[in-house]
Amino acid sequence: MRDQTARNRVVVIGAGVAGLTSALTLAARGFDVTVLERAAAPGGKMREVAIGPARIDSGPTVFTMRWVFEELFAGIGLNFSDHVRLRPLSVLARHAWDDTQHLDLFADEARSADAIGTFAGAAEAKRYRQFCADSRRIYEILEKPFLRATAPSLPKLATAGGLSGLLELRKIRPFTTMWKALGDYFHDPRMRQLFGRYATYCGSSPFDAPATLMLVAHVEHEGVWIIEGGMHALAQALANCATSFGATIRYEQSVREVMVSGGRAAGVVLESGERIEAHSVIVNADVGALPAGLFGEAVRSAAAPLAPRLRSLSAMTWSMVAKTEGFPLSRHSVFFSRDYPREFAEIFGRGEVPSEPTVYVCAQDRIDDEARLAAGGEEELLVLINAPPVGDRKSFDQAEVARAAERAFGVLQRCGLRIDADPGKTQVTTPADFNRLFPATGGALYGRASHGWSASFERPGAGTKIAGLYLAGGSTHPGPGVPMAALSGRAAAATLFADLGFTPAGPKPALRPAASKTT
Ligand SMILES: Cc1cc2nc3c(=O)[nH]c(=O)nc-3n(C[C@H](O)[C@H](O)[C@H](O)COP(=O)(O)OP(=O)(O)OC[C@H]3O[C@@H](n4cnc5c(N)ncnc54)[C@H](O)[C@@H]3O)c2cc1C
Repeated sequence: MRDQTARNRVVVIGAGVAGLTSALTLAARGFDVTVLERAAAPGGKMREVAIGPARIDSGPTVFTMRWVFEELFAGIGLNFSDHVRLRPLSVLARHAWDDTQHLDLFADEARSADAIGTFAGAAEAKRYRQFCADSRRIYEILEKPFLRATAPSLPKLATAGGLSGLLELRKIRPFTTMWKALGDYFHDPRMRQLFGRYATYCGSSPFDAPATLMLVAHVEHEGVWIIEGGMHALAQALANCATSFGATIRYEQSVREVMVSGGRAAGVVLESGERIEAHSVIVNADVGALPAGLFGEAVRSAAAPLAPRLRSLSAMTWSMVAKTEGFPLSRHSVFFSRDYPREFAEIFGRGEVPSEPTVYVCAQDRIDDEARLAAGGEEELLVLINAPPVGDRKSFDQAEVARAAERAFGVLQRCGLRIDADPGKTQVTTPADFNRLFPATGGALYGRASHGWSASFERPGAGTKIAGLYLAGGSTHPGPGVPMAALSGRAAAATLFADLGFTPAGPKPALRPAASKTT
């Protein structure tokens, strides 16, 4: 039997937000944690692309659910705002359908309702108010029994609130598609398209996702913040705090095998051949890496393989420094395609880059309508379109990238935005690149697509059938997105903790003195 010290030894594979959250939680409780990350920096998808001296946020840009991180930090005796500085946005996003039809959504619901009233009429504004109330209710119904649970469970969700709970569950409309439900609220097709886009936050199509995903609208209404220093600063803060509690983070270290001994996880083997023993292993890589055999035969069956047709969206992104003209960009701006059903049929049905994509632009030097552009008027931009998760089957050569750029920047031009792109100051990331960065995904960025009523219950939870092996990340329960992945990291730590016989009120491993080690 292993001694107490060995029982406390944990290896985390991956320094994405979930891996870092697990590492921080466990290190603060005195566990001996080693994080192994194949990239040169923490953050995973929360990555920066360097263009000259500029550092462009090229993964997530919309930060929501700050309470997840406030709770995480408070739970280990730290104050989140001492480590990460946030600034709230009052304009959540600016939306455009052409060069004259523009609509801003605001953090203030009444202001949004006024804007919608002017844009689409008083009746539509009233329906918007009802939509907000219902999306809030869906969120409230799901927060405790689903978002905060360590594993997805339909029976638990159904019985959580007794009979009244069951009646409440009907309100989340799990069997209705989001698109259909939105059609019941909104009569203006532009409003339906605007709110349908929230399905893409989970990498899904509004035509196949359940109406339940309307809760994303509520999450945005609760607040969207900008992180000072960029999203990457959040990853760095998590990494710094974990190391201050004694965790070791080793970058440019790729794990090639999870060792299993006597039926339980026993450590990992690196690409270099180095073996690191541990009592528990947390996998923060996409869960698809396990059944694909990327961590060896012994753990291949720890997660079920995901058929390529069930994958979520990938993306094509342009990280760039450029001058813009015409359309008044806000921090977050969305430029809609004219045929939403066709856009998703092309992506999910035909596995193609859409012939006319909806384009998202993050103007990183802007806060609401205040722009802090560099001398010369250039600004830092992330331009993103949704793309099929076929990066393991298709190379996305130069001709394909040029075709996609023509389509994406054509949509921007139609809406009045001209971007003076300089190829020397632009870096493109394709689904094939995302597949290389996040292996065994095909470039899918959000795990399994939330298509159909049961998909959200089919993401794996934190525990696996191999003792001592845990999962954390956006491809596990409760799902993708920075705060959701953090919740999964917390769930993995809590499950590991409970498996070792510790309860929050019971004996804990002693806190060790801070000794920071980063290699
Ligand atoms: C372009 C884009 C835009 C997005 N927009 C938003 C947004 O606006 N808001 C939002 O909340 N979310 C957004 N998301 C989603 C969000 O970024 C993710 O859900 C979240 O960051 C996933 O975190 P994770 O913990 O699953 O780890 P990941 O970020 O997937 O990191 C996993 C880590 O594991 C490492 N790894 C994998 N295999 C190995 C190995 N063998 N050895 C060592 N290390 C390994 C990888 O290098 C990686 O660093 C976006 C994502 C992308 C890509």
